[in-house]
Amino acid sequence: MTEITAPKSAVTAEQFADEIREQLKYTQGVTVEQAKPADVYVAASAAVRRHLMDSWFKTQSDMVNGNTKAVGYLSAEFLMGKQLRNALLNAGLTEQFDAAVKELGFSVQDVVDAEHEPGLGNGGLGRLAACFIDSLASLGVPAFGYGIQYKYGIFEQKFDENGKQIETPDYWLTNEEPWGHIDYNRDQKVSFGGEVVEEDGKKVWKPAWSVRAVPVDYMVPGYASGRVNTLRLWTAKSYDEFDLLTFNKSEYLDAVKPQVEAENISKILYPEDSTPQGKALRLEQQYFFVSASIHDAIRVFYPGQDKPDLTTFADKITFQLNDTHPVIGIPELMRVLMDEYGYDWDTAWTVTNKTFNYTCHTLLPEALEVWPSKLIGELLPRHLEIIEKIQDQFAAELKAKGVDEATIKDMAIYTGDSVRMAYLATYGGSHVNGVAELHSQLLKDVTLKNFSDVYPDKFTNVTNGVTPRRFVKLANPRLSDLITEGLGTDKWVSDLELLKGLEPLAADDEFVKKFAAVKQANKVDFSNYAKREYGFDIDPNTMINTMVKRLHEYKRQALKILAVIARYADIKSGRIAADDVMPRTIVFGAKAAPGYYLAKQTIQLINNVARVINNDPDVKGKLNVYFPWNYNVRLAQHLIPAADLDEQISQAGKEASGTGNMKFALNGAMTVGTLDGANVEIRERVGAENFFLFGMTVDEVDALYAEGYDPKKYYEADPRLKAAIDMVADGTFSNGDKTVYEDLVHDWLTKDWFMTLADFGAYTAIQSEIEALYAQPLEWNRKALINVANSGYFSSDRSMEDYLERIWMTGPLK
Ligand SMILES: *Cc1c(COP(=O)(O)O)cnc(C)c1O
Repeated sequence: MTEITAPKSAVTAEQFADEIREQLKYTQGVTVEQAKPADVYVAASAAVRRHLMDSWFKTQSDMVNGNTKAVGYLSAEFLMGKQLRNALLNAGLTEQFDAAVKELGFSVQDVVDAEHEPGLGNGGLGRLAACFIDSLASLGVPAFGYGIQYKYGIFEQKFDENGKQIETPDYWLTNEEPWGHIDYNRDQKVSFGGEVVEEDGKKVWKPAWSVRAVPVDYMVPGYASGRVNTLRLWTAKSYDEFDLLTFNKSEYLDAVKPQVEAENISKILYPEDSTPQGKALRLEQQYFFVSASIHDAIRVFYPGQDKPDLTTFADKITFQLNDTHPVIGIPELMRVLMDEYGYDWDTAWTVTNKTFNYTCHTLLPEALEVWPSKLIGELLPRHLEIIEKIQDQFAAELKAKGVDEATIKDMAIYTGDSVRMAYLATYGGSHVNGVAELHSQLLKDVTLKNFSDVYPDKFTNVTNGVTPRRFVKLANPRLSDLITEGLGTDKWVSDLELLKGLEPLAADDEFVKKFAAVKQANKVDFSNYAKREYGFDIDPNTMINTMVKRLHEYKRQALKILAVIARYADIKSGRIAADDVMPRTIVFGAKAAPGYYLAKQTIQLINNVARVINNDPDVKGKLNVYFPWNYNVRLAQHLIPAADLDEQISQAGKEASGTGNMKFALNGAMTVGTLDGANVEIRERVGAENFFLFGMTVDEVDALYAEGYDPKKYYEADPRLKAAIDMVADGTFSNGDKTVYEDLVHDWLTKDWFMTLADFGAYTAIQSEIEALYAQPLEWNRKALINVANSGYFSSDRSMEDYLERIWMTGPLK
């Protein structure tokens, strides 16, 4: 007997179909006969939302009336993915939906496809925030996600006829969006500019302009917890309806100008990843959502109180700063407590310090945000004063602790010219965490070493995780069924460590064969999907080898594409007989920041390598490269279950954690990777013999930098590497035009900051090991299954439990 614990609503398919009909008729004003799949999608979404409504109310009232501290997850990005399937799963309405849609005469796939993914994040950081709020709801922990409802999310990527990336705006809100509920009556005023004056011995900020922050609420339903939390995304509206006087003079554009300017604040998500952009509008965005969220939390937790006792604020809510983007919240809470509620500095500092915690997501020094003081002074003059005072207090504290002058200077939050947000966050909050063991160690040893010397107790680690609901249960129904069969229960969906129970089954050849059949069926599915969506002809009987993530030099897509080119050259030159080649299909997915030149060149190169190889009869069926455009959560959910081998090949010490690596291991792909980020922990858990490790370690990388790295040496020493780079340089992938990849080649040969060339030998060497194993399907699948069985730790539920225990000191509602 298999134990089934998945939520299942008592609503029947017939009832659900009636609810959809009702919604169509009375809210949307269309009959079932007139309805298009997009109408049914909207109606079904509204119907599910109604089913979640009582739990949502109850969670909110229990949160405010109970004694459980809530979590406020402050994040500039939430990369949610599509909502409908996830909401149906958690509401226990999946089967009823499928049946109801068919009964109404529609195809389930058409209706589900009508949902447009909200692209409110760049990549891993935003997806992490989405996984975390899913897990908090599933654990029954009261929580808010706080962020921005960007009108334009991450750009939609296309490729032109030369294989170059084109960015087009993502008009995700042009059609009806049934999930976000705009609440004009819970708005907040957020002010900017102006000056600070003294009145009766008190500092008073006289801002120059204000915008209206209006919340858009998204339900965040927990799985089998009966809880529904809130993702509150702020949108900016103008207070100035248009200026009638100007309008009467028929200067229409001038009349609406203040409106347009105010609303610019929530207009676009900056398409940057791993590098901050020092734009005034970006600082405005950060302050906008953080200020609105702090005021919102006061409204929620002290309802109707004119003089709330905010000394208890840190007992009501703890704010997690997802990277430095929301760090302006620290001086903001100080200001609110002092200027709006009359607390003295020390009281305000104690509350602020207790309220905030900071997650650092990088080690790349260029990615730590630093704002010019001038800009902060112009936009937020009172905050700059507070930051200066924090700096004075900080310097005095360090001096009292016996820190020398030079170090105090090195550690300055405020240097006079600029404000270092990571330092402000570290000093201003209670805890700082890295996102994988290795990363947290490097934060303490390198990036924030001075801080960890003085405040060792602040530092901790929480290894990232991913939600098993979206990335296993929804994305991979076949594997989910097999896991449930193997374990005799579906409880693993909310207790992923139970996957460990699959380990003995790795010795059972029959079970391993079932596991292999699941992978094969998923590959056929993906091949069909790729045909339908992209027109690709992917052979599901070849190894599917993936590399999907943002395009960045440190992630080293260049290493992969150079190895592909070398392989191509091997076959072309006859170094390897075509018949001896194990057939492989390589699938890339990646967006590059629009201003990131080398990343965009790499995209162009991959596309053109794909074009040349896929059209060359000499390698037909042996080596194929595909690059589906616009990598997003939807594509991730389709691709990951079909992967045989996944690439996690960043330069050691550069990927803070990675979460793609976790998704692939959980879906039964083998990983080829470096000792970086969470790869280290994945390998520890699944066993060294079940992970393809290669490449330099952090120490070896450091030693090579110290010695003076010369990429040319590696180029000269390895004829296969040389041949690959020469093919890029000689126009093989640019119709003979030698100029197209000039800059990329020049960078490889003269700089190669992330040591792609140095790791090339080790990377290509391990490929023969990989192919030898893949030639024994039973052994390959046994190892892949062992990966699944030992990856339960990488659930974001476990990450949340670690945060709750080490940082937030709170737990589920009673
Ligand atoms: C998981 C995920 C990422 C993060 O991938 P990494 O390999 O960890 O960089 C980025 N984008 C999407 C759409 C994801 O689902």
